[in-house]
Amino acid sequence: MEAERPSRIIVAGAGIAGLTAALAFAARGFSVQVFERSPELGEIGAGLQLSPNATRILDRLGVLAGLERLAVRPPAIVLRNAKDLRELARVPLGASAERRWGAPYLVVHRADLQKALLATVARTEKISLITNTVVEDFQPSESSGVVIKIRTGGVERRLGGMLLVGADGVWSKLRNRVLPGVAARSVRLVAWRRTIPADNPLIRNLFPDLTVNAFLHPGFHLVAYPLRGGSEFNFVAFTQGQVLGEDWSGKPDPAPLRDMLRRSATPLAALAEDADAWTAWPIHTVDSAKPWIQHGNFALIGDAAHAMTPFAAQGAAMAIEDAWTLAAAFSSSPSTDLAKSLATWEQARRLRIQKVARRGAFNRFVWHAAGPAAWGRNLVLASRSPESLAADMDWLYGEDINSP
Ligand SMILES: Cc1cc2nc3c(=O)[nH]c(=O)nc-3n(C[C@H](O)[C@H](O)[C@H](O)COP(=O)(O)OP(=O)(O)OC[C@H]3O[C@@H](n4cnc5c(N)ncnc54)[C@H](O)[C@@H]3O)c2cc1C
Repeated sequence: MEAERPSRIIVAGAGIAGLTAALAFAARGFSVQVFERSPELGEIGAGLQLSPNATRILDRLGVLAGLERLAVRPPAIVLRNAKDLRELARVPLGASAERRWGAPYLVVHRADLQKALLATVARTEKISLITNTVVEDFQPSESSGVVIKIRTGGVERRLGGMLLVGADGVWSKLRNRVLPGVAARSVRLVAWRRTIPADNPLIRNLFPDLTVNAFLHPGFHLVAYPLRGGSEFNFVAFTQGQVLGEDWSGKPDPAPLRDMLRRSATPLAALAEDADAWTAWPIHTVDSAKPWIQHGNFALIGDAAHAMTPFAAQGAAMAIEDAWTLAAAFSSSPSTDLAKSLATWEQARRLRIQKVARRGAFNRFVWHAAGPAAWGRNLVLASRSPESLAADMDWLYGEDINSP
């Protein structure tokens, strides 16, 4: 295969991971080409909580100012009993989060985050974004690092680069290319999502301010938070048991969601009336113990490397951290030693990713607790001050990830 202009970085996928990687590499002086298989990047996804470990990086990449216009800074996260709406615990956010962790805690629509990233990409001369183009394959190349095969419609092309960043999401084909058999695994859990305009009387009564609320119940939980300046509220609920396809189009039976909502306090139970309006998203994870790199010229990041359950609300944040740290590791390494630098990067990231995934598993256990376990949880939470609950998150939100 013939390589052309080999000094560039190639990114497969223009999701959160890929766009952040493009900006992070460009900020370090590299030319970047991003290939995205979709013809256009639209309103995919729903709300995201973006913690300070992620917004700190977005600020350094010049994305935060644009994003804040579209986001909300919630004053707190409140855990409530879904059955009677009683407050169980409160973690202060807002200005106090920014003071504590050095960057804001935001809630934002995924499409708005992607829009803010795209606007910054468009202003960055060193990045070109090519849509409607699939990265199909790649192989190492003596002369340039890596040569990729791309396809736009029926037209196939090859081009070379120093590094291919595989940011092609949870069903990554590039991961399959290097790790045959490492597939995304269904955890038999469905996330149900919908947004409701804030002027709906139900929303006005339930949510008088812009707080993030998590309603806990034995076996399920529901999270609600404002988006887009508070003009909409995002809901995400989790039910057990169904396996769906690989996108948003699967239409499972909403009976488990309806049942779950009906077991909650009256205002939440009202949401069961139009359970058909919720979109189902099958939760899949990727085994984070498997390799993410190959030679010195290929690295997987974001969901492609280590998709996790959303119970710590950190998937996008980890994708952003991956992108930032990968660019730092790659640029600080002599070109003769890229394989070693990528290996060091992978090792450091794996430790953090696995710690975050453990936190997610802990949250799920605690939030879905039943009987004496739930009673014990409520007692412990009642004994904790908001400050001490915030301090629990210092290792995650406060960590300044500059380089591995
Ligand atoms: C219910 C739910 C709630 C969540 N809540 C949060 C939260 O509160 N906070 C948080 O931080 N995270 C959250 N997440 C996780 C977060 O949404 C994901 O971790 C994040 O979006 C992953 O980004 P990505 O860029 O790795 O993948 P994706 O967003 O999937 O992007 C991959 C891109 O690659 C493109 N692509 C695929 N294959 C190719 C190819 N061969 N060539 C070219 N392009 C290709 C795709 O079209 C897509 O644009 C949540 C997830 C779920 C399911």
